[in-house]
Amino acid sequence: MLTDARSLPSGTRRSADVCVIGAGAAGITLAMELMGSGLSVIVLESGGTDVEPDTQDLAAGDSVGRTLETLDNPVRLDQTRLRYLGGTTNHWAGFCRPLSPIDFEVREGLRRSGWPISHDDLLPYWDRATEWVRITDGDFGLDTWEQRLGLAAPAIGNARVEPFVFQLTYPTLFGLLYRSDLEASVDVEVMLHANVVNLATDDGRAVTAVQARTLEGISFDVTATAFVLATGGIENARILLSSTDADDSGLGNATDQVGRHFAEHLQVYAGFGVAESGAEALAGLAGDEVTIPSGRHAGNRHGAKFALGLTDDHLRDEATTGVEMQLLVGNLDAGRPAEEAGRAGTSEISALLGHRAESPESVVSLQALAEQELDPESRVGLGRATDATGMRRVELDWRYSADDRARVLGGLRTIAEAAGEAGWGRMQLIPGGVHADAIDNLVQGEYITLYSATPSEIDLDNFPIGVGFHHMCTTRMTDDRNEGVVDPDCRMHDVDNLWVAGSSVFSTPGVATPTYTIVALAVRLADHLKSVLL
Ligand SMILES: Cc1cc2nc3c(=O)[nH]c(=O)nc-3n(C[C@H](O)[C@H](O)[C@H](O)COP(=O)(O)OP(=O)(O)OC[C@H]3O[C@@H](n4cnc5c(N)ncnc54)[C@H](O)[C@@H]3O)c2cc1C
Repeated sequence: MLTDARSLPSGTRRSADVCVIGAGAAGITLAMELMGSGLSVIVLESGGTDVEPDTQDLAAGDSVGRTLETLDNPVRLDQTRLRYLGGTTNHWAGFCRPLSPIDFEVREGLRRSGWPISHDDLLPYWDRATEWVRITDGDFGLDTWEQRLGLAAPAIGNARVEPFVFQLTYPTLFGLLYRSDLEASVDVEVMLHANVVNLATDDGRAVTAVQARTLEGISFDVTATAFVLATGGIENARILLSSTDADDSGLGNATDQVGRHFAEHLQVYAGFGVAESGAEALAGLAGDEVTIPSGRHAGNRHGAKFALGLTDDHLRDEATTGVEMQLLVGNLDAGRPAEEAGRAGTSEISALLGHRAESPESVVSLQALAEQELDPESRVGLGRATDATGMRRVELDWRYSADDRARVLGGLRTIAEAAGEAGWGRMQLIPGGVHADAIDNLVQGEYITLYSATPSEIDLDNFPIGVGFHHMCTTRMTDDRNEGVVDPDCRMHDVDNLWVAGSSVFSTPGVATPTYTIVALAVRLADHLKSVLL
């Protein structure tokens, strides 16, 4: 059922077997998995069913480290996540793929790499996650998808570089998609406009109640046998740091790990490519749609497309970080205002690359996503200012290093070289080489505004790096409580009845987009809670 905290009398105490905090991808998946299990569940969600400016303002804060930006457009903290039913899935682009086996291994030379669980441990949960993110299945094999799409993956591959497939789900807004199931449920109650402000505790070893408040000033609390934080990679840390009943440093923070290792995906508009073979060979990069054959979402259509990445062997041998590259296909000349100075079309790109494009469709723009090495000093902290609920606002000190930047470039070069070696065509790397105002058009592949006229003018030490809007690793999963915050079951090392869901528990970011794994981990956590509580 869906209820509204604004109708509760102040001072109300509610109770359930499980209290989930946050109704985004992680919280809704948990609620759906627990539905009908015999456990009563209360989900506390800060927002309503649509965006409300006063609630969204609770996500505002200060960014005191690296600037968060999409290319050269700075973004505010409150623009990086959403506070209403469905959470940030109300904005997500729907790119899904699992992490690779290498992401779970310790890579010598990369700080705090590796997970305490293996890739195989997550395989059954990625399979089940496909039902919730609304994609065909957990088979990401190239042959499978070449067959399903009737399209070829790019013929680029060696020991260092390989094609892979994305399944694209759209529009999969968890709040909209699962709202009627949540409304109809008798054992799951989603309470809207319930802003959690404190995890109450006597001794720091267990949560006694979750304290929540509406923006109208109604205070109430919820007791439960098990509590789950599912408020996203930034707010999970913020709530723990703000819960100071037993310790000024926060709840479960005796080893000072909460909020540390904040990681983002580094997004780079990387340059252009001209394919040797003309448009037909590029069709797999644009992808196509397929129909889900069975299950909860049978008959729904979703997309799939191929892209390029570094192989696990290469990442292992070089102890380096992941880089993936999408080759965005489109007609560069279509819709291009011919007289506008600075616009680049087929002929300009051909001249730039010294390689004549056969047709406008054989020119692609290159967009990369890259992993960063973990840095304990990159962290979510609390500022002095408070929000309308009285909670201290977030102060985010995001850091990445010159080495990260060098690894991104190294990865891009490795991919570009592989394209040349394979006779695919030519790639010209111009990292950050497009203006932010071109993004929309870039995605449609219509026209591109070059940052500067020639690649030599790009400053390789300072090229713009954008964010993926993926907030990871702030409550890392570890065996050792001195290096992270939750154990392999996602239970807080130091708080017996508190679990964490979302990409804050990622031990290492990997380069794959996170939500498919967030959902897989939520399915796994639901199983675990059932085994502990039933
Ligand atoms: C523009 C954009 C594009 C993206 N594209 C992709 C993509 O293609 N692929 C991908 O994998 N990921 C993508 N993402 C990231 C994806 O949206 C997130 O990984 C995902 O939504 C995180 O799920 P979550 O449940 O952990 O957090 P969220 O979805 O953010 O949900 C958290 C919920 O907790 C609630 N909450 C917060 N604080 C409190 C509180 N104090 N009390 C009560 N409730 C609270 C919020 O209101 C929210 O509903 C994208 C994000 C953006 C912004």
